[in-house]
Amino acid sequence: MTTKTFASQADLEEKKVSFTKLSDHAYAYTAEGDPNTGVVIGDDAVMVIDTQATPVMAQDVIRRIREVTDKPIQYVVLSHYHAVRVLGASAYGAEHVIASEDTLDLIKERGEQDKASEIGRFPRLFRAVESVPAGLTWPTLTFRGKMTLWLGRLEVQILQVGRGHTKGDTIVWLPAERILFSGDLVEFDATPYAGDAYFSDWPQTLDNLAAMKPAQLVPGRGAALQTPEEVAAGLKGTRDFIADVFAAVKAGAAGGRDLRSVYRDTMAAVRPKYGHWVIFDHCMPFDVTRAYDEATQYRDPRIWTAERDVEMWKALEG
Ligand SMILES: [Zn+2]
Repeated sequence: MTTKTFASQADLEEKKVSFTKLSDHAYAYTAEGDPNTGVVIGDDAVMVIDTQATPVMAQDVIRRIREVTDKPIQYVVLSHYHAVRVLGASAYGAEHVIASEDTLDLIKERGEQDKASEIGRFPRLFRAVESVPAGLTWPTLTFRGKMTLWLGRLEVQILQVGRGHTKGDTIVWLPAERILFSGDLVEFDATPYAGDAYFSDWPQTLDNLAAMKPAQLVPGRGAALQTPEEVAAGLKGTRDFIADVFAAVKAGAAGGRDLRSVYRDTMAAVRPKYGHWVIFDHCMPFDVTRAYDEATQYRDPRIWTAERDVEMWKALEG
C-alpha cells in the first residue's frame, strides 16, 4: 500500500509562462495557475511584486523584464510572507524589499517553519531549490497601512486594505491607470489557498478591492484580468469560494462534528462548483482545517510545520 502525501506531489506538469502587457507601466508574469509576479516600470526604475519561489525561477522574470526595459530593478514588494512568493528575492539585487509590518511579524514568527512546510508540500513549485540562499528573505522597508512611491512621475501605492489570505496582505495600486496587483487575495481559475487565512475578514477585504474599481487586476494565480468585467469575475469567484467553504465548515462545526467529517461534507458541497480549479485537491485539506479552527477556537492561524502538514493530510486523506 502506498500513502499519498499531498496531492501536489503528483502535480509535476510544467506550466506555460505568459508576460502580458497591461499598460506602458505594468506587466503580468503568469503561468497557468502557478504563482504570478507583477512588474511595474517607472520613469527610472522597475518594481517587482512577488519574486517567484527560487532565484533560478526569478531569472526567467528578469529575462522577460529585460526584453522590455533596461531600467534597474530597484524595488521588490512582498504581497505576503509565503515562501513561494519570497524566496526568489535575492536574484533581483533590488535596493529595497518592501513588506507590511504585519508581514514582517509573520516572517519573524513563522518564516522558517513556513519555508520547510511549503517546500515539502509542493516540490515542483521550487525549481532549483538549491539556489535559495540560507535563511529567510527580510524586508528592508516596512510600512503600516499605506506607503506611496514615486517612480519618477508614476505614483505607486502600496496598501493594506484588510486581512484575507494572511494577516499581512499587501496590494500594489497604480491609481492613474487603475491597475491592481492583488497577491493571493484574488485568484482566477485557481483555488485560493486559505491555510493561513482569516475567513471572517476576507470577503470584506475583497469588497474593499472592488470599491477601488480596478480597470485591470493581476491575481496571485491565474491569467491577468484585463477588463472591469474580468476583474469583477475574479473578485466574485474568490469571494464565493471563501464564503461557501466557511459556511459549510461553520455549519458542521456548529453541529459539533469533528474535522474529518466536516472535511468530507465540505468537499462534497463545494467540489461541483470549484473542483475544476487548479490545486483544488491540494488546497482543500488546508483550507478546511483553517476554517474549522477559525469556526471553533483559533482566532489566528496556527503555524504549519512540515510535521503538522503530514499529520493533517493523513488524518483527512489517509
Ligand atoms: Zn500565499
